[in-house]
Amino acid sequence: MSDCIFCHIVSGNIPSNKVYEDDDVLAFHDLHPAAPTHVLIIPKKHIASLSEFPVEEEALAGKLLLRIQQIAKELGLQEEGYRVVNNMGELGGQTVHHIHFHLLGGRSLMWPPG
Ligand code: IMP
Repeated sequence: MSDCIFCHIVSGNIPSNKVYEDDDVLAFHDLHPAAPTHVLIIPKKHIASLSEFPVEEEALAGKLLLRIQQIAKELGLQEEGYRVVNNMGELGGQTVHHIHFHLLGGRSLMWPPG
């Protein structure tokens, strides 16, 4: 997707502050952090949103979840807790149309979200 900002981050065309990378998954600090720790975890493959996640990519979906667990632990969030967020579509507040999971930690987070 030539117009996808996160695909440009995957390819290195746009710089990012990476915290984790493997063949399938990339994690980097959010440009506008909403918490002391705010990392985005994405599949390198372009998938527009959770609702468009291909059912045949079940293994990738599981891998993403377990990498979030691993990254949260590596960033020292496990003990105090953290939040994982996926915004889907217009009402969900999704602004970048390459699926991403927000990992937020380091402060007490309000519920319900606004
Ligand atoms: P969404 O609203 O759930 O789609 O979240 C998109 C997130 O991407 C926002 O928190 C933005 O701050 C973040 N973001 C947008 N562009 C960049 C970038 O170039 N680097 C890192 N984060 C970005």
